[in-house]
Amino acid sequence: MIWNETMKKGKQLYEGKAKVLFATSNPKQVIQYFKDDATAFNGEKKGTISDKGVVNNMVSSKLMNILGAVGIPTHFIQQLSEREQLVHKVEIIPLEVVVRNRVAGSLAKRLGRPEGEKLDRPLLEYYYKSDALGDPLITEDHALLFNWATMDDLDWIAEHTLRINDVLLGYFASLNISLIDYKLEFGRPVKEPDTLVLADEISPDTCRLWDMTTGQKLDKDRFRQDLGGVEEAYHEVARRMGLE
Ligand code: UDP
Repeated sequence: MIWNETMKKGKQLYEGKAKVLFATSNPKQVIQYFKDDATAFNGEKKGTISDKGVVNNMVSSKLMNILGAVGIPTHFIQQLSEREQLVHKVEIIPLEVVVRNRVAGSLAKRLGRPEGEKLDRPLLEYYYKSDALGDPLITEDHALLFNWATMDDLDWIAEHTLRINDVLLGYFASLNISLIDYKLEFGRPVKEPDTLVLADEISPDTCRLWDMTTGQKLDKDRFRQDLGGVEEAYHEVARRMGLE
């Protein structure tokens, strides 16, 4: 059911680093509220990026709609306001699924590869979602052994992640943006716990986006690396997506 005037925003369920979740009058749906707070390096660096929540809400809503339209199940229902969206409540699988089309960030550092090196095919990595442990890199076998996901879940996630990557690579290329890497999260909807959906957000906070012509960074690396022009970069992504 989509939002109508009889539905109400309820109490706060959870506050994360970039978003807050609120209950609604429907126990199977929640509101995701996007904050301007920014963190990096596992919370060591903190700041705010003015209007980030507004931009990320718009960007993520549009990307979830695009993915939904090509048959990827997502938690997204509808954007409610500048900073809020209605989503299906899910139980998050405690894995951060990172997709890489080029070398950057922690991969460049860990394996000593040059930033920007092209990969012949998308690289999928799994990290265990744990702030206390700093989201360690794991293999599929860790996820299986510790019951974070089943083999069927991992197969489903890998298959859908590659489809998501095809769609997002093409879409961003049409905006003259190279999708270098990004992080996805998946969850089991409360209303259908035997299925999986794409959840969380896809935004310049969770993607590396480089201008295809100039190589200019249009993502959170501007904040992480103190490059300046952070707000402008987020707005530039929204502008190219036709959102402002
Ligand atoms: N990422 C994210 N949340 C995390 C870790 C990574 O959204 O907790 C995204 C990050 O923005 C980048 C991609 O996943 O687009 C790969 O990140 P990487 O492993 O290079 O780590 P980082 O450089 O962010 O420490």
